[in-house]
Amino acid sequence: MKEYKLIIGGERVAGSGGTYEVINPATEEVVGEAPEASSADAHAAAQAARDAAPAWRRTSPENRANLLMALAVEIKKRSDDLLPLIMAETGATLKVGTALQIPQAVSRFERYARGALLDISISLPPSIMPTTPLAAGGVIGGVGLRQPVGVVACISPYNFPLVNMAGKVGPALATGNTVVMKPAPQDPLAIIEFAEICEAVGFPAGVVNVITSSTPDSGAALVDSKNIDMISFTGSTEVGVKIFAAGGKTMKRLLLELGGKGAAIVRQDADLAKAIAGLMSVWGFHSGQICTAPTRAIVHRSVYEALVAGLASAAPQLKVGPPDMADTVVGPVISGAQRDRIEQRIASGIEAGADLVVDGRSPEGVDKGFYVGPTLLANCNNQMEVVREEIFGPVIVVVPYDDDDEAIAIANDSDYGLYDYVFSEDTAAAYAMAQQLEAGHVGINTAQRNHEAPFGGFKMSGVGRDGGDFGLYAYTEMQSIVWPG
Ligand code: NAD
Repeated sequence: MKEYKLIIGGERVAGSGGTYEVINPATEEVVGEAPEASSADAHAAAQAARDAAPAWRRTSPENRANLLMALAVEIKKRSDDLLPLIMAETGATLKVGTALQIPQAVSRFERYARGALLDISISLPPSIMPTTPLAAGGVIGGVGLRQPVGVVACISPYNFPLVNMAGKVGPALATGNTVVMKPAPQDPLAIIEFAEICEAVGFPAGVVNVITSSTPDSGAALVDSKNIDMISFTGSTEVGVKIFAAGGKTMKRLLLELGGKGAAIVRQDADLAKAIAGLMSVWGFHSGQICTAPTRAIVHRSVYEALVAGLASAAPQLKVGPPDMADTVVGPVISGAQRDRIEQRIASGIEAGADLVVDGRSPEGVDKGFYVGPTLLANCNNQMEVVREEIFGPVIVVVPYDDDDEAIAIANDSDYGLYDYVFSEDTAAAYAMAQQLEAGHVGINTAQRNHEAPFGGFKMSGVGRDGGDFGLYAYTEMQSIVWPG
């Protein structure tokens, strides 16, 4: 078994707390031992990133672009080793692993290699300023430069370790920041491999550091550190709130991509096949461990029975099983603790009066691993915990409605506001509804994404935006420079 180490300032360092086991959620076997970083290790990594920052921010955009492109090439070359490791750590199915875990990370590095070359400064029109006691009047020119923030801690959740990290590290490095990566405790090993690749393709020591740990302490130490200027965090709203509060002490710049409870409004004029296909992504795409998933179906009463029946007959067609079997659609969830949490949420829905139309608890055909099959709870209302709280598993709840205003009110009656959906063949009506939804994104008749679109949440789903060029802006500070014309 490979001996994984932290990478701090170009050195491979053992975790001060020894190691901990990373468990394969499909087999419950040990995938590998990850270093257990202490708070002191986190502070050392922050210091190393700080030391490397002045030289890195002076590198040319071409240099940064070349290194990012080299990363993309190397990750692609190494995908035969990385994919099995990521699948073992995350429980991703062959389909999700092959199509997304590596290719999406590669395309993010390619995108931000191009981004490094982009001029993202803002030219200001000349301004006529009057003479004042401060200075003589005249034409004053100016520019808004986007400068690197400095040192960025990139703290990520389980589900898509490399893709999530690429979405942070890519734009952060492109714009001249150094980084400390802190992956999720459950799937850290591919991120250590990735840090080694950064070293191999020629990133200078200290520009990319990595710490891993089984506890939140090392992440919290990064949030406290004066050597960290920005926290780029993707994870739960609960932890996001803690980071928001703790980061205030050192005035951290924050990009917080948090939880969601995606409302999917299905209007009376929806193409039900399209709506059902979109909703089924909650079951079939990474076992519902997706922040943007349309988990909350809000369905016009006239099509309610048909939609519920359609989902109920589709669910058994999704094979639950080991992720490495080609016909598996629903793999395991990340851990036993998460499986138990999902099952508790389902039980709370039943207790509150929801109809359990499809029960995915204890699915057949799997005798080990942490599995929950597709689950459908119908006849729900917005007072139920199962409708209000994020589940992060393959569970759809269905709430009926009678008119458009009620649908919007139900959708917006949520602490979250990450990603909503409208299914309707009247695209003008769907667009008008989309504008009234309190969510950072709305998909009309699709669960597809546009990676150039700004990505982020309203309300408790986060602060800030990344995606496309917005990712570049997120890792910069605006600096104005003015001069007499
Ligand atoms: P989590 O919040 O439990 O953990 C995320 C990361 O934060 C981990 O690396 C963890 O070690 C670290 N952490 C925990 N406590 C910390 C603290 N006090 N200070 C600093 N770091 C700390 O999330 P998770 O369970 O790994 O992932 C699931 C959650 O992530 C869901 O809520 C999901 O919606 C969310 N998510 C959001 C997006 C998005 O883009 N909005 C994408 C994927 C996942």
